[in-house]
Amino acid sequence: MLEKVLIANRGEIALRIMRACKEMGIKTVAVYSSADRDLMHLSLADETVCIGPAPGAQSYLQIPAIIAAAEVTGANAIHPGYGFLAENPDFAEQVENSGFTFIGPKADVIRMMGDKVAAKDAMKKAGVPVVPGSDGPLPEDEEEALRIAREVGYPVIIKAAGGGGGRGMRVVHHEDDLLRAAVHTRNEAAAAFGNPVVYLEKFLGNPRHVEIQVMADGQGNAVHFGDRDCSLQRRHQKVIEEAPAPFIDEAARQKVFERCVQACIDIGYRGAGTFEFLYEDGRFYFIEMNTRIQVEHPVTEMITGFDLVKEMISIAAGNPLSIKQKDIHFRGHAFECRINAEDPDNFMPSPGLVKHYHAPGGNGVRMDSHLYSGYSVPPHYDSLIGKIITWGETRDEAMGRMRNALDEIIIDGIKTNVPLHIDLMNDKGFKHGGVNIHYLENKLNRK
Ligand code: ADP
Repeated sequence: MLEKVLIANRGEIALRIMRACKEMGIKTVAVYSSADRDLMHLSLADETVCIGPAPGAQSYLQIPAIIAAAEVTGANAIHPGYGFLAENPDFAEQVENSGFTFIGPKADVIRMMGDKVAAKDAMKKAGVPVVPGSDGPLPEDEEEALRIAREVGYPVIIKAAGGGGGRGMRVVHHEDDLLRAAVHTRNEAAAAFGNPVVYLEKFLGNPRHVEIQVMADGQGNAVHFGDRDCSLQRRHQKVIEEAPAPFIDEAARQKVFERCVQACIDIGYRGAGTFEFLYEDGRFYFIEMNTRIQVEHPVTEMITGFDLVKEMISIAAGNPLSIKQKDIHFRGHAFECRINAEDPDNFMPSPGLVKHYHAPGGNGVRMDSHLYSGYSVPPHYDSLIGKIITWGETRDEAMGRMRNALDEIIIDGIKTNVPLHIDLMNDKGFKHGGVNIHYLENKLNRK
């Protein structure tokens, strides 16, 4: 097993990883920026290292500072969490080249999945269903591009191969607009991602976002941990997630589970990963793979009883998967509400002093957060300050427990999106389940 792990992240996920390490008897190194001296997990770590000033670009994204911190503390491995450097193949490579274990996939697999054209191609080869489209980059040849779009059928979406975070895509409804849109997206992609390659896909009208959690050991073994529905989004940012995804065609689901597991084996995947799909009319369409632990992993832990972070650490230490597919049983239903420090009306960030914090509790309630009374939320980072996760034997029970938890939680001093969550947990369409990715924005627009 690994002796000492450096956690290259902050906030709730740093605390989450630290808890897993401590349970496993692994020593921890916490790194922090000068704005993050008061983070809760720092006092629980064996060692702490300040890696730079407040801006993420000068601290949590500084590869040399993080590797130097691992060197001076004698850590054996680095856990990247999510965001920041988690899906940066150069970071994974430099970590390994410097003699440390990267807790995640090999750099070349991260690199391939970061290029969406290459990722789609690899998935197609592995038999994972993908959105119909250009099969590779959209050709610069105008006639050829028009022919492909006609064949796919309008509306289509042009997406940047190097895109991410919901940026670098354009929907095209008419043939007249295709070539101009292609040029614009290429120019934007070159400026934003340093890669002008774009590809084309059929634009699905009202899909749901359904994703599949996998774990593989890079030694020929892989399993899936079922699916999650993350359709409630605003500006492509997930707001509420649940597991399992409700109202999914069972035959299609089992088939896509098998395909994802096989794809992991085919590409030599290692660690925790997520296959993201759009789901429409009973069919799955792959859009991308996330090569890291995700924010919403706890809903999967709640319905399977497994600890995904401990498992990925164990795999990074060189152990084979500790479980077989037949050992994974699904029980009940779970929700996660992402609590953000933001104004619930206009979504502006609301950092500042948390004068009083009270966490919810009770049967089936889990709170993952670094907050405490007297903690000051810095303005420099993502607004996520915690996650309430609830479990129930049924979807209704999990939802009832979430309503209670949202009533109980107290975060005084800053604005949060708790009122939005309360509204959604009482929303007729969401209560029924299976809403599409436009549901939340349509609801907000009506308001
Ligand atoms: P990113 O990496 O930027 O998040 P994705 O490929 O995951 O890019 O797409 C982000 C979001 O854009 C999806 O969740 C979905 O809302 C929308 N989207 C992407 N591709 C399509 C498509 N072919 N049809 C409809 N919507 C799409």
